[in-house]
Amino acid sequence: MKNADLALQNGSEALLADQGQMLTPRPSVNREKLEQHLREALRLLHVDLDDENLRDTPRRWSESLITMTSGYDFTDVKRLSTLFRKACSTADENCQNLVVIGGTYKTLCAHHILPFFGHFIVGYIPERTIIGASKIPRIVEVHMRRLQSQENLAHDVADMIERILEPRGLAVWMGGMHMCMVMRGVEQESSFMETNVLRGNFLSDERTRQEFMSIVNRRGQHGTVP
Ligand SMILES: [Zn+2]
Repeated sequence: MKNADLALQNGSEALLADQGQMLTPRPSVNREKLEQHLREALRLLHVDLDDENLRDTPRRWSESLITMTSGYDFTDVKRLSTLFRKACSTADENCQNLVVIGGTYKTLCAHHILPFFGHFIVGYIPERTIIGASKIPRIVEVHMRRLQSQENLAHDVADMIERILEPRGLAVWMGGMHMCMVMRGVEQESSFMETNVLRGNFLSDERTRQEFMSIVNRRGQHGTVP
C-alpha cells in the first residue's frame, strides 16, 4: 500500500469528522532531511541561526510546511470520493433547490509559496445526492493543503464535488487576498482576486446563475458567508 493510501485510510475518520483538523502523520515525509535543507536555505540568506529567536525556526518552518502540504496525502481521487460518499444521502425527488455552503480557505501559492486566503461559496442543484454541509469545507481543506493557484483550487474542489454528487449544476466561487502580490512583485495592498467555476445548470440557465451570483454579491465580497 502506498504511503498516501495509508494516510487516507488512517486519516479517513478525521476527514469525515465535523470538527478538528484533518491532520495526518505524513509518514512519507523525511522530517530530518527537510529540516536540514530549510536550515541551509536560511543560512544561504545570511540569517543568523544562533540568535535565540531563530534557533528553532528550521524545525518550526518544516513542521508548518508539512501541515500545509498535508493534502498531498490525499491524492487518490477515487478513494477520496468513495470516502466522502459515505457522508451523502439521497434527496427528495422534488428537491431541486439551490444548496449553498460557504466558508473560508487559506493556502500557499504554487509559484512563491506565500499564503493566499479568503472566502469560498459553493452552490449546487442536486440530481439525487446531497452531502452533509460540513463536508464541503472539508473537501476544500483537502485541496487547500497543497501548493495551489486560486484557479486550480476552485477547479479541484468543483471536480471532487462533481464526482461525489453528480449534481444538475455546480458553482464554486472563490475570492482571496494573495500575499505574493502584496509583499512582492506589484506590492498591491488590495490584491483581491475572484474565481468562478460554473457547470451544468449554472451555465445553461440564466436564472440559476443569477440566483447564485446574487448570493456571492451579498456575501462573498464582505467577508461573511452563508
Ligand atoms: Zn504567488
